[in-house]
Parts: sequence; structure tokens; C-alpha cells
Amino acid sequence: LVVMKDVNKHFGDLHVLRDINLEVASGEVVIVIGPSGSGKSTLCRTINRLETFESGSITIDGDPLPLEGKSLARLRADVGMVFQSFNLFAHKTILENVTLGPIKVRKEKKADAERHAMELLERVGVALQADKYPAQLSGGQQQRVAIARSLAMRPKVMLFDEPTSALDPEMINEVLDVMVQLAKEGMTMVVVTHEMGFARKAANRVVFMADGQIVEQAPPSDFFTNPQSDRAKDFLGKIL
Ligand code: ATP
Ligand code: MG
Repeated sequence: LVVMKDVNKHFGDLHVLRDINLEVASGEVVIVIGPSGSGKSTLCRTINRLETFESGSITIDGDPLPLEGKSLARLRADVGMVFQSFNLFAHKTILENVTLGPIKVRKEKKADAERHAMELLERVGVALQADKYPAQLSGGQQQRVAIARSLAMRPKVMLFDEPTSALDPEMINEVLDVMVQLAKEGMTMVVVTHEMGFARKAANRVVFMADGQIVEQAPPSDFFTNPQSDRAKDFLGKIL
């Protein structure tokens, strides 16, 4: 579904993505882990075209990444992204936050968008909060709304960049549970996270990055018990 071939990117002198080759199949859940600054966020942002890249190619469902214009808006609709900070619109209700994109970008009728939004809010467990404003919700609830908002665009793939790292510990699991459920339902997901519980429960594959490179990738059971590279061993020694 997502195919990256020999992707290279610099920030000035910094070679932040080096010959990245990554394929994510439909329904696959891929966890990206690695030291701070290794390029995990940049990788996600490149897939979503929030960042440009200098060489290589990225295709989503066979279509190459467009540079701009209408096709880029469509690509953004196909690729949902959830960040560490929830980025909800503060002056819109929860329901409006979820229906805005479908109405504006996908040209859905308001009633249809609202029906779908309520289904999604139900799924992530915040339907009762539909008429409230983001500030009235806990961090965990806001992040679940952010997930519902992405899903409302009917994406083909969902990218998550450390979706639980800004949350209080007691709220982490309520967000991870939603993500595990999504994975079980067959959503294609790329998740930057250091939550090993989630990785073990939901991931098909762990991709380990260091210095802008994919150093190794393996199923979670293999990777966590038997990392191959010294970099991965060293990293796991620090976080486990
Ligand atoms: P973390 O675990 O801390 O989130 P990361 O693996 O997500 O790290 P990135 O955010 O992708 O790392 O950053 C990779 C490198 O690129 C870092 O050295 C960072 O300082 C640099 N970088 C990121 N964004 C920019 C930017 N807009 N301009 C210049 N350098 C950047
Ligand atoms: Mg990051």
C-alpha cells in the first residue's frame, strides 16, 4: 500500500533520511522505533508530504506522491496522521472537529458527515462529548477525538507519531486500546511509538531506525528478544 524506494532527504547538511526502502502492505501494522533524532517523525511527515524529499519515490496504493494542488489534498485525505499534540480546533465542538474535513475536502453532506462522525466517536468512546469543546476533555479523550477525526476522512493508511507521549500515564491505555482495535479491524498503520506493549499486541513488524537509516526490521517477537545489530541491542538495553 505504501512503497518508499531509495528515499533521501536532507535538512541543510544533515542527511536525515538515507536510502529509505520501506513497504507497508494493506492491513499491516508497522512500528517505527529508534533513538531521538533518528528521523522517525521525518519519515512519517515525508509519507504524508508534509516534508519534501530530494530523491527516491513514494507511492500510496500505486499512485506517486503528488507535489501540490488538488491531488495533494486527496493524498492527505488518504493518509491520516495523528501527532503527539492533538491539534483539535479549540473553537469548534468535538462533532464539528470530526465533520469539518469530510464536509470541506470530501464534499460530504452535513447529515452524512455527522452520522459517520457519531459512529466514529462511539467507536473511540467519546460520543457523549460530541457537543463539548476540546478544552473540556481530558488529554486521552482529545487524542481519541483526533483519531476519530482522521478516520472520518476514510484514510487508506494511518500514521501515528508518538500519539501517547504527551499523555498522563493513566490515559495512555485508553488511546492504545483504540489503536489496537483499529489494527484488529485491518487498518494499515505506521506507528512511531516506544510502547512495547502495543508493539507486542498489535504490530506485524518493527522497523528500527538510527541516523536516518533503517538498520533492521523484524516481527516484534524476534526484534525484542533477538535484535541483530549493535545499535538495536544498545537501544533496547536503554528502553526495556
Ligand atoms: P524524536 O524521537 O526526538 O521525535 P525523531 O526520530 O522523530 O526524533 P526527527 O524529528 O525526524 O527525529 O528529526 C531527525 C533529525 O532532523 C534531527 O536531527 C532533527 O534535529 C532534524 N530536523 C527535524 N526537523 C527539522 C527541520 N524542520 N529543520 C532542520 N532540521 C530538522
Ligand atoms: Mg519524532
